[in-house]
Amino acid sequence: MRFRAWFGCTTPGCDETYELNEIVYKCRKCGRGDKRSGLLEVTHDIEKLRESRTPDQWKKLFERRYLRTAYPYGSGVWGKKELVCPNVDDGNVVSIYEGGSNLFWADRLGRDIGLTDLWVKLCGNSHSGSFKDLGMTVLVSMVNQMIHEGQKIRAVVCASTGDTSASLAAYCATAGIPAVVILPRDKISIPQLIQPLANGALTLALDTDFDGCMDIVAHLSQDTRYYIANSFNSLRLEGQKTIAIEMVQQFDWEPIDWVIVPGGNLGNVSAIGKGFLMMKELGLIEKLPRLVCAQAHNANPLYRLYQRGLPEGRFRPMQAKETQANAIRIGDPVNLNKAISTIKAVPGSMVLEATENELANAAAYADRFGLFNCPHTAVALSVLLKLVDRGEINGSDRVIVISTANGLKFPDFKIGYHTREMQAVSTRHANEAVPLEAKIEQVVDTLEKRLPA
Ligand SMILES: *Cc1c(COP(=O)(O)O)cnc(C)c1O
Ligand SMILES: [Zn+2]
Repeated sequence: MRFRAWFGCTTPGCDETYELNEIVYKCRKCGRGDKRSGLLEVTHDIEKLRESRTPDQWKKLFERRYLRTAYPYGSGVWGKKELVCPNVDDGNVVSIYEGGSNLFWADRLGRDIGLTDLWVKLCGNSHSGSFKDLGMTVLVSMVNQMIHEGQKIRAVVCASTGDTSASLAAYCATAGIPAVVILPRDKISIPQLIQPLANGALTLALDTDFDGCMDIVAHLSQDTRYYIANSFNSLRLEGQKTIAIEMVQQFDWEPIDWVIVPGGNLGNVSAIGKGFLMMKELGLIEKLPRLVCAQAHNANPLYRLYQRGLPEGRFRPMQAKETQANAIRIGDPVNLNKAISTIKAVPGSMVLEATENELANAAAYADRFGLFNCPHTAVALSVLLKLVDRGEINGSDRVIVISTANGLKFPDFKIGYHTREMQAVSTRHANEAVPLEAKIEQVVDTLEKRLPA
């Protein structure tokens, strides 16, 4: 059976649709004015999906493909191709076998805070080290298909706080498609800068912040030879949606009680919510988890709106302040309306925040139990600790924290903490190297003093 998906306009009352191989990011009818008007959303023929297989048949299909070698279906994303992007021909898929990331059972950490069923989904255990790979494989595959269909695309372009550009560069290099990445100079980590350079992307380091880079990209997007890969391009959310499906699959399709995810541009929380809602529509699950969006206090526009009860049409962008969680330093999130719809559609969802002090200490605390957290995951962990403290999460609830990137991408975050040189942080779990002479007495003496008896 041929399945089909298309771009649908998200403005209430507008029913414009576009093909997925059109170069269009916003509705041509209503997408004028602010950057959020007329955003598109990939829409699936749910009826057809429902008719073609029973819930059990879908589950069996996904199980059979999961992490096997039949290209591209062993990918955690493309193993769910019918639900993600059926429009791409298998031969045009650009996959590095994204997805399939470990669900870390945080047993000791959980017990330390009174939970028996705590898990961390390590989405940063991935080719370019962040969850962005999940969406980028879908976007670059669609571009590859468009190029094969004869469309003139000169390069794929993105502005980035570091992880989107690393992922885009990797997928474009895999496919042999030129990539242009536009970065705020001196505002991203060295590993994040090295990644697109190594993959041969044309890398422009601009003397501005992320929002300044986005303005440049907005101008370039008017020239259809440049295909834009930022998260207003809703193809990416379809791949990210598979985080939800994969987690449920990893639990043998049993229910999850809580999912906590850091939010910046709010694409990921929208995508994960969409994944759960779609599974419910298809009968793959009966119960939705409660979805918690975790924001950094210094970049918390959704949290502020949530505090006021998410009033319709009353959003005010803010100037995001410096935060260790650089990838979510966004004051004017493009996917705001999608995130609000998700929060309203998933009962019991919430938005919480974490300060710099809270996030840095939460990361270091959880690292002591075997994790190696990036600052964004730290925001989610900090929010987890708050929800447990407040008694909102019960001891036996099944809780998953979404880890969005690999801690290895953020050496300054780790070094700053453990050398106690971090601004606005009172370090509670620092661990510094002990410098000694190469003498056995000094070593033995230190072991005696420092190890438990
Ligand atoms: C992009 C990113 C986020 C934020 O995701 P949004 O979809 O913009 O909310 C969080 N953490 C990391 C590591 C990221 O790269
Ligand atoms: Zn429209």
